[in-house]
Amino acid sequence: MKNEYKVGDIITLKKAHPCGSHDWEILRVGADFRLKCVGCARQVMMPRTQVEKSERKKTTTSV
Ligand SMILES: [Zn+2]
Repeated sequence: MKNEYKVGDIITLKKAHPCGSHDWEILRVGADFRLKCVGCARQVMMPRTQVEKSERKKTTTSV
């Protein structure tokens, strides 16, 4: 199965944000992802490779 990411997906990362949330909403995909913390709405940029490494599970809204 291929890892597919798209804008609007909520992903769970192993590394928690300082606010305590592990969940991030994808705002932009590419070589770098722009992620928004679900807990505190702060936005960060993260390289795709790091997202793939630290992802714990993905929740898709499709189907
Ligand atoms: Zn946060």
